[in-house]
Amino acid sequence: MERVNILLVDDRPEGVYTLEKVLACEEYNLVKASSGQEALKCLLDRDFALILLDVQMPIMDGFETATLIRARKRSSHVPIIFVTAISKDEQFVGKGYKSGAVDYLFKPINPEILKSKVSVFVDLYIKNKKIKEQELLIHKRELEEQKAKYIQARYEDLLRYESLANSIPHLVWRTNLDGEPEYFNHKWFEYTGLDFASSKKGFFSLIHEHDLPSVNEKWRKALANEGTDSFSYECRLRQAGTDKYKWFWNLVVAEKDKDQNKISWVGTSTDIDEMKAIERHKASFLSIASHELRTPLTAIKSSMELATMLIENENFDSNNLKEILSVGTESSDQVNELLDEFLDFSRVESGRLSIRPQKTNLSDIVKKSVESYTPRIRNLGKHRIESLISNDVYCNVDGPRIRQVVDNLISNAIKYSPVEGCIKVKLAMESDQIAISVADQGIGIEAANLDKIFHPFKRVNEDEHVKGLGIGLYISSWIVEEHKGCIEVHSAVGKGSEFIVKLPTSSEATQQ
Ligand code: ADP
Repeated sequence: MERVNILLVDDRPEGVYTLEKVLACEEYNLVKASSGQEALKCLLDRDFALILLDVQMPIMDGFETATLIRARKRSSHVPIIFVTAISKDEQFVGKGYKSGAVDYLFKPINPEILKSKVSVFVDLYIKNKKIKEQELLIHKRELEEQKAKYIQARYEDLLRYESLANSIPHLVWRTNLDGEPEYFNHKWFEYTGLDFASSKKGFFSLIHEHDLPSVNEKWRKALANEGTDSFSYECRLRQAGTDKYKWFWNLVVAEKDKDQNKISWVGTSTDIDEMKAIERHKASFLSIASHELRTPLTAIKSSMELATMLIENENFDSNNLKEILSVGTESSDQVNELLDEFLDFSRVESGRLSIRPQKTNLSDIVKKSVESYTPRIRNLGKHRIESLISNDVYCNVDGPRIRQVVDNLISNAIKYSPVEGCIKVKLAMESDQIAISVADQGIGIEAANLDKIFHPFKRVNEDEHVKGLGIGLYISSWIVEEHKGCIEVHSAVGKGSEFIVKLPTSSEATQQ
């Protein structure tokens, strides 16, 4: 067991000796001081259970020493027993208590009284020490429990943070304040095809070389604390296992601790490839549209000029004039068709294209569409059109709009069949739906592009000679969907395509 320190203060060696002789035992460590100054020195770096202080000392007497002992924080609570031979006078005793004494011992010392008084204070000291140690232990345990709870809560937070990051359709990542990656969500690994180590190493090398300088500049500013707490940039990121890149919008936000100090950078990368493609297509839309309009307008102008020249000639042939004017009419029809397509597109975009269903003979609609294209096909000379149209299929639809859809499909079948082939148009009533199918033997469409062709401005055929605005199928699918139907497409590159418009047989629909 640790020995208890007791300070014995007396300028006379025989005084200290007497105390030492009575108190000497295993449990006590008796520390001797021959003056008030020496006593104060001893109290600087050690804890004492008790001080036995002689009152009569030169330079600094016991009262002064006791006052200074009380004034110091470390020793203020150490009990002091005055040892004195001089006076039992009450005033003297009062002065002693005022200066900090808790008891008195009078010389000559009675060994039994000395022992018992000292043991009372030592017991008290030991008990107090134990209580303090227990308090410390409890406090330590409480701190440990709090720490464990904090770690558990932080761990649960992290799990929640990760499951949130894994449940969103964006790439999510985090870097330290030096821009070194330290976390990626599942979508990141899925898109990049990299594992954690390669993602860490190749984080910036996934960025397209053309976008890298501007991205680096943004990061440089952020890491140098030049910017705000968030920044964003667009860049192309390489796709897993390919040399293909997709456009992403990246938002990087500083993560902060409770004292608002930055602790990391959290980034989300959102796929904007489709949007970028639409932007590009929109940009080329105007130039294509002007080009498309110019051809029929030039034809109209030429036929007007030719007609004028012809009329100026007194003996003009009216048949010739009719022919010239019919070219003009046809061209102005084309201009109208184009303008209708532009208008429909803007109406679909702004939600203003309305559908007015009424009982309609679909067979008539499909037949008329086929008939209108038959002379054109004949003129082209390389295609045949075959039709298999069930008679009098009635349905509750917007007739002119469905005609527009069939026209679009037949005109595409002709456009995208550069070599000769047969175009088959069918209308059939199936159990709970009506199917209008247009099949060609043309260039076909890659499987990966089948969904894309219904997006606005999406042209998957790179052949520049085939003119088109890339909005026909977008408008058609919108019209069919408004009728609660759908357009299916089956295609094989180099073999041809089949577009099937499926319309539900509404309660009013009948077959006669
Ligand atoms: P446009 O024909 O004016 O480009 P569409 O919206 O009608 O626009 O068609 C979108 C794209 O789908 C076309 O550019 C073409 O690449 C493809 N496509 C449509 N129909 C066919 C078809 N029958 N055969 C091959 N490709 C087709």
